[in-house]
Amino acid sequence: MTTFNFTRRTALTGLATAPLIGMTAAPALAQPAQQGPLIPRISRFGVGAFEVTTLLVGSRTADEPQGIFGMNVSAETFAEASAEANIPADQNQFFFHPTLVNTGSELILFDTGLNGAAITQAVEMAGYTPDAVTHVILTHMHGDHIGGLMMDGAETFPNAAYITGQVEFDHWSGTDNEGFANMVAPLAEKMTFIGDGASIRPGITSMAAFGHTPGHMAYMLDSNGQQLLIFADLANHYVWSLAYPDWEVRFDMDKEAAAASRRRVLGMLAADGVPFIGYHMPFPGVGYVETRGDGFHYVPHSYQLLL
Ligand SMILES: [Zn+2]
Repeated sequence: MTTFNFTRRTALTGLATAPLIGMTAAPALAQPAQQGPLIPRISRFGVGAFEVTTLLVGSRTADEPQGIFGMNVSAETFAEASAEANIPADQNQFFFHPTLVNTGSELILFDTGLNGAAITQAVEMAGYTPDAVTHVILTHMHGDHIGGLMMDGAETFPNAAYITGQVEFDHWSGTDNEGFANMVAPLAEKMTFIGDGASIRPGITSMAAFGHTPGHMAYMLDSNGQQLLIFADLANHYVWSLAYPDWEVRFDMDKEAAAASRRRVLGMLAADGVPFIGYHMPFPGVGYVETRGDGFHYVPHSYQLLL
């Protein structure tokens, strides 16, 4: 079980143990303290003239991933597919990473993570202060995406304008959802609501990818002829959801629509060679897709976007 708590700094205490051998000459070195797994928290690269930073705000291990990612297949099928991809079938590591885009004139945050403290710390690690964020754009309104909008009853990003999908907002505003009430409703007056194919900022276009939630949106960045799709929760596992887009995912509210969105959008990315950022993909969560068999294969970004 590996859980990284990014909201609290862990004090590293060097445990110097007494030397066990020898009372003689050379002073014995302290036992080297093991530090535990380490994941980079910030990754920055370019898309045309845009500077794009992915911010890891949390990561945790989950057991029994078939119950999340392969609800409609047999245990044998799930185990086989996992073994083929060299990943365990009984555990999964989740990642949570919003994206920060500096267009040169605007600083735009896509989704806000689990809580205000973690996203604030991540934005600061990326070299900015929260009050420098000009726009917060939401892909959808699950708690792990809206959780950082407010902190202690105040806006985490006090100078930001907010943009989100109309369908998504309308859905959640008609429910009795605590996250929506605490995080989104207080900001509703300041929000701009958009639909599919809207040019929402210079070089940023919305793309409907409904299914995971009723109004889940993806956003295409386009600068100097280069593109990248921020696809959020369109596909949440690099093997189970990319290679097998029809496998049912517990968190997809409309499973059929989610699978159809996956096939349509991943097919487009594969055909056009456009890279994407997946919010829950292994950090930094940037890669390409190619078609393979009846599904898709994830090709992680190496250095293409650093050139
Ligand atoms: Zn999510």
